[in-house]
Parts: sequence; structure tokens; C-alpha cells
Amino acid sequence: MAKTLKTSPYVNLNLNVRGLNQSATLQINERSNQLIKQGTTVYKLGLGQSPFPVPEIVQEALRRNTHQKDYLPVKGLLKLREAIAEFNYRHQGIEGSADDIMIGPGSKELIFILQLVYYGELIIPTPSWVSYSPQARIAGRHVSWVPTSEESEWKLSPEKLDLICRSDPERPRVVILNYPSNPTGATYSRSWLKKLAGVARKYKLILISDEIYSLLDHEGNHVSIAQYYPEGTIISSGLSKWAGAGGWRLGTFTFPENLKWLQNAMATVASETFTSTSAPIQYAAVTAFEDHPEIDEYLFHSRRILKSLGNYFAARLRENYITVPTPKGGFYLFPNFNIYREKLAGRGILTSFELCETILRETGIAMLPGMEFGRQPEELTCRIAYVDFNGEEVLFKAMNEYKDRPLNTDFLRKHCSKMLYAMDKLEEWLLDL
Ligand code: PMP
Ligand code: GLU
Repeated sequence: MAKTLKTSPYVNLNLNVRGLNQSATLQINERSNQLIKQGTTVYKLGLGQSPFPVPEIVQEALRRNTHQKDYLPVKGLLKLREAIAEFNYRHQGIEGSADDIMIGPGSKELIFILQLVYYGELIIPTPSWVSYSPQARIAGRHVSWVPTSEESEWKLSPEKLDLICRSDPERPRVVILNYPSNPTGATYSRSWLKKLAGVARKYKLILISDEIYSLLDHEGNHVSIAQYYPEGTIISSGLSKWAGAGGWRLGTFTFPENLKWLQNAMATVASETFTSTSAPIQYAAVTAFEDHPEIDEYLFHSRRILKSLGNYFAARLRENYITVPTPKGGFYLFPNFNIYREKLAGRGILTSFELCETILRETGIAMLPGMEFGRQPEELTCRIAYVDFNGEEVLFKAMNEYKDRPLNTDFLRKHCSKMLYAMDKLEEWLLDL
């Protein structure tokens, strides 16, 4: 006779996890792949994954290190941490040493562990990346969402941050500032960063500066807020976006000297959970953080392509009366379909979730609803990850045939045709509303 469970597994779930689903980014990816398997044409603008291959010299470094089999130090391989300290100095003038660096299996895991070990509420602007808030909930932390406005490209305003902190100035808090932004593509000027740094200093905030898209700033001009608030900023980064290595799972945290206690607490949790990050990946990552002309060239052309596509998409969306900030870095757009509200309501579409579901069903275009990023469900925003093209081929063309030619619409039509076709389909769908 089959044994039956006496209690429902649901009842035995930790309260912090109960009712949570798998992360929206990963769900849309699996769903898109399933639809493709069933024969549907899907435009994969849901998951934010770099379309570009891992730079060849980094792949070669991994091939050379397949024999690395030992557990590595909890905080990470010394040589890699040294390379990252030098990388920080080279790119941002930040002085530090290997001691200030911690490596983890993805920056996502490091951000989670920080929220677990630090007993403070989480402050994030809305919209923010999908995982910060569920992580806070799992760790049992309170979340305060800071409102932003479309006019200011959904950016975190120093005044609003100050307003939230003023109500209880002594409360321990973690702020996550992510730029270039997922989901909006926005970035911050030096003067804006200085003001944010001023507020952070005033309230002694712990600032996680999520700079995972920093090298994909379209102009190559990323500035770290750690230059203005060094004592309280932890820089979060990794290989996933600029090196096209999301699946390698390698993330990095750079701590200031006076947050060593936090780094040590995180290392304790790491030592009791993931132990250390995969050894061959860490050895290969040393090459990624070193100064190599091949990597500079790879990044230069990756940025050109992303800038060109981002500008093109933003312009096409605006031609269709959709409001959207032009992305300044990374590979996301955050359009607002508000102008179509009445027509959409006529079709029973009242939320961003319903909007994305209907568009996926009727056109095959996969996107993520703004509500996954902390926006109100009724706001008709969504995130487009403009990454469904053959990154290897497009990069090769940009580096060779188009090295000295602009990556204009003809180039995009020829080499990113699926992306442009997705835009044509969306336009048709809007016209038929
Ligand atoms: N921050 C942001 C803004 C992201 O988009 C992602 C998604 N890759 C992460 C952090 C986590 O990246 P990873 O864990 O791959 O380092
Ligand atoms: N960060 C990516 C995104 O926003 C996906 C990877 C992930 O969520 O872990 O789509």
C-alpha cells in the first residue's frame, strides 16, 4: 500500500518562503524554451542573458584549468582576488587589495548572503531587479520601495531616499543601487552619484552598488559610487553580463576596509553553505579581470552593438507613441504602454501581467511585466531584454566588416533580423488593437 504523508508539505514550509514562486526571469526562459520545443516561434526578450560568447582568451583559460580540482579558500582564489583589486584600480581608481574581495557563485548569491547576515531593512527604488525583494523576504527583512518617476527615467532620487531615512535616522539599512539599470537601462551622472553618496553618509547606510552591467555602459563611461562613498559601498559585480558567462556562476563583492566584519560574517555563511566557487571557473576568471587588448576590443564592439540596438528599439517604440527612456547601458528597455490603456482595457487587458501574457500568446514575443520589478500591477510597463540575436556572429561582423562603419539600421536588419522582426510584429499587434 502506498504511504500517504500525514501533513501537507505546504504547511511545513518556512513562512518566509511560503507562496513564493520561482524567479520570473528564469520562469520566462524555461517557458519560452518549452514553447520553442512545441514548435512555436518565440522572440526571447524575457530572460536577461548576454548574447555574446565568453571572450576566447577566457575560454582558453578555462580549457587550461580543467584539472583544478581542490576546494578553494572560502573568500576566493588569491590570484583572482588580486586580479580584481587591480581591475578596480584600473577602471575606477579604487585602491584596495585581495583582502577586500569576496568571490561567490554569482553575485545573486552574495547579495542574498549579505541580506541574511546584516540585520537591516532593504531600500530599493521601484522598478528594481526582480530578485532583491524576494531575497529580503526569504531572509526575513523588511523592504521599503522608493517611488521614482518616468520623467526622471525611473532613477533613485537623493531627496526621496533622504525622506525615507529621515523618519527613523538610526535604523540599520541596506540600499541597493543598480546601474546601468536592470530593468531600465538608465545610469547616473557624477553629480547625481555625489548627492546619493551624501545621503548615504548622512544615515550611515550600507550601499550595495550593483555594477554588474558597468562595462556595458554604452559610452564606456561608468563611474562607481564607491568613488564618493568609499566607506560604506560594497561593489557587486561578476562575469555574467560583460563576459557573457551567466552560466559560469561567478560573482564578486569588493568591500571597504571598515566593512571587513560584514565580509567575515558572509564568509562564515559561505563556509557553511556553498564552501567556495568552482575552482576551474575561478582560475579562468583571472584572465577575464586582467588587462588584455582582446577583452577591450570585445567590450568596445559589444557596447557599439548594444547601443545601436537600444537606440533603434527606443526610437521604434516612440514612433508607436510608447514612452521609454533610451537605454544608456546594458541590454534592457522599460517601455510604458499607457497610451494604449483604453484599447487594451477593451480587450480585457488591465495589468502588465495580462499585457505580457497576451503579447506572448498572440505574437510569440516574451517580455516581463513591470509588476515583477515592483511596479503597480495596473501600470502598463514591461521589460524588454534586447538579446535575441546571434551574439557570436554579430560581434564578428562588428569587429571586422563593420569595424569602421556605423552599425546602422541596415546592419541591424541584416544581422539582428529576428529582433527587428519582433519589433515589426509588436507594431502590427498595436495597430490591430
Ligand atoms: N544584479 C542584476 C541587476 C542582474 O540583472 C543580475 C542577473 N544576472 C544579477 C545581479 C545576478 O547576476 P549573477 O548572479 O549572474 O552574478
Ligand atoms: N539577471 C537576469 C535577468 O534579469 C537573469 C538571471 C537571473 O535572474 O538570475 O533577466
